Amino acid sequence: MEPTLVLRPGRDKSVRRHHPWIFSGSAARIDGNPSAGDTVLVTSATGEGLGRAAYSPDSRLRARLWSFDPDTVVDEALIAGRIVAAAARRSALASITDACRLVFSEADGVPGVIADRYGDSIVVQLGSAGAERWREVIADALMSLPGVRCVYERSDVDGRDREGLAPRIGLMRGEEPDSETIINERGYKYAVGFTAGQKTGFYLDQRDARAAVAAVASGRTVLNAFSYTGAFSVIAAANGSASVTSLDSSGLALEGARRNAELNGVEVGEHIEGDAFAELRTLRDRARSFDLILLDPPKLAQTEAQVARATRAYKDLNLLAAKLLNPGGILMTFSCSGGVSDELFQKVVAGAALDAKRNLRIVGKLSQPSDHPVPLAFPEAAYLKGLILEAE
Ligand code: SAH
Repeated sequence: MEPTLVLRPGRDKSVRRHHPWIFSGSAARIDGNPSAGDTVLVTSATGEGLGRAAYSPDSRLRARLWSFDPDTVVDEALIAGRIVAAAARRSALASITDACRLVFSEADGVPGVIADRYGDSIVVQLGSAGAERWREVIADALMSLPGVRCVYERSDVDGRDREGLAPRIGLMRGEEPDSETIINERGYKYAVGFTAGQKTGFYLDQRDARAAVAAVASGRTVLNAFSYTGAFSVIAAANGSASVTSLDSSGLALEGARRNAELNGVEVGEHIEGDAFAELRTLRDRARSFDLILLDPPKLAQTEAQVARATRAYKDLNLLAAKLLNPGGILMTFSCSGGVSDELFQKVVAGAALDAKRNLRIVGKLSQPSDHPVPLAFPEAAYLKGLILEAE
């Protein structure tokens, strides 16, 4: 008998709305004896077929749907076809960059599969039992894309343990990549390292924000807080900023920023290595101020439960930034916590501006770019939000 996941009564609603996740609490029982990653038929409590899913016995996320048509055959051709189609949807980006997210998990119909292109290399993360089950097919499909020299696995993201999977890093297909890959986005060069032990990554998802920085940087004194490898710093310097200060707690990241400045022939500017919460206070105490502040902290809320605490941290940071802003200055502030909604983020920033006694106006909004799409049926794919604020 075909392995079947039977939903509890009333728990079929989200699947009928094409939401791809089935939590353990929604499953009434599993018929047959599927292994991790095997395809199961998903039915309602009354036995109506609703789709086909990858089964993950060790995860609270018990199954992820490949298809909302119970007649779909989940085979090599289907998986490979989805990978190739996802990559093809990004083809228009090739005119501005050789680095982009080729495959974005649920948003591309392949839950747990993330693939990023950096020049002629593809870095893949397999983060679910279903993705792991089809790993060879996925690697072959990625390697078959035009101009690809290697497919490298970087499945050491958190989340794999929740799926009962051990971390995996290493070459999957093609030639061993160089320790440094130089990518080119809109004429700017950035060094990316993704081989074992290396982690000078690149935030593909801030592409639209980089364009926004380029548009306003001219003549401004710039503070790039949470600068990582200095992508915003390079853009600001190359677009006529008066000065650039990059702030990050990681010395390694700042070293990467030095490399990226060198690659683009721009001044590296001032580097501050330290905790942003403390360093922003120090800058304020020293009566420093800036015409453009970029505030792009890491994901402060990893889970729903951390949202309240993260909210206080976002408020603290934005309050400090608002105080450091010159009249007429611009603050670009971001949150990449999925659990913090657009609405909540805006509210937090409004509270921060109020406490800082600054009148800030929204002159633009930013979000993840087109290679990180959000299916209407899966709003969880949306995580990045940014506000462009102008001070009176
Ligand atoms: N804006 C960057 C991406 C930022 S990623 C870009 O576009 O490339 C977040 C960065 O925050 C990382 O480099 C990390 O080292 C840094 N970071 C994390 N916690 C920090 C803290 N408390 N103070 C300063 N930097 C921190």
